[in-house]
Amino acid sequence: MRREFYPRGDKMIDKERKIPYKVMVLEVLLARLSVHYPNRGYIEGELGKAIAGWRGEQAIDYYLTFLPKEKYRILHDLRLEDNEKRFFQIDTILLSKKYHVILEVKNMAGTLFFNNNPQQLVQTLNNEEKAYQCPIMQVERQRLQLQAFLRSLQLPEVPIFVLVVSSHPNTVIKIAPNFKKANQYVIQSAAIPERINTIEANFDEDKLTPKELKKISRTLIKHHQPLKPDYLEKYKIAHSDLLTGVHCPNCRQIPMQRKRGYWYCHSCQHSSKDAHLAAIHNYSVLLGPTITNQQLRNFLHLPSPSVASKILSSLSLKKSGIMKGSYYQLE
Ligand SMILES: [Zn+2]
Repeated sequence: MRREFYPRGDKMIDKERKIPYKVMVLEVLLARLSVHYPNRGYIEGELGKAIAGWRGEQAIDYYLTFLPKEKYRILHDLRLEDNEKRFFQIDTILLSKKYHVILEVKNMAGTLFFNNNPQQLVQTLNNEEKAYQCPIMQVERQRLQLQAFLRSLQLPEVPIFVLVVSSHPNTVIKIAPNFKKANQYVIQSAAIPERINTIEANFDEDKLTPKELKKISRTLIKHHQPLKPDYLEKYKIAHSDLLTGVHCPNCRQIPMQRKRGYWYCHSCQHSSKDAHLAAIHNYSVLLGPTITNQQLRNFLHLPSPSVASKILSSLSLKKSGIMKGSYYQLE
């Protein structure tokens, strides 16, 4: 499952970040729920939040491109387990031969007030106030967990800096008068290059060799454990609530009808040779990594086992089990 480490693992910044797992699953899920499904609005809200977070991360990526590429290794969405079996998640980390920087990204609109007594983040949006856990505490905890993690693997240590980055361009940031840490840590995304360069100016010599830096980066990627919750269970969705059939790639209607070797849409008369591929992908995302002939027939609305067999063999999937008990790997 290492491939899920979206974007680019060990490499420097690519142009595009791969679609986050949660966004992908929720999009598939909504495509498979009736428009009248009772909890649909809530799931749409969750998707909206996930997309907003993704936009925020993309905005950060843009500003990171202003940093000298040869100096940093940049990793995103790292999820690691500490020695106490607690998971911690790092939005973005810059690794260098002199220091590391953890960036906690907040894509929140409105006015953000960093209060230190009590220490919390208060968002004001449309005249409504909402309090959140202070991201400064969050990112400092991440630093402690990362330090302990690196130490437990006997990897060489360098200072770790933390930043809380507001990625929403129109957010107004307010900080309580004597909240020094917030003044130090909280920045707008556009200020990332300048802040990193300021940190850089405090260091002359490299503390790590290129080999050591590479090893740290590789180790973090190796220990990354992507979160893949069972969203059907999470939102209490029964398998029978999911719409079956093949979506029309032209008008999104469901189901298309299987004709001789192609798919036909009764709504828009579109025909397609391979519209089943998206449906099979949907199946694997929502219902699991294996499928039987019968399950494929039911999900795609196929007229016979032999049509299902034909489709299965055209996909050259790995087959396990024998006779009626055989199933196919959808990886
Ligand atoms: Zn259609």
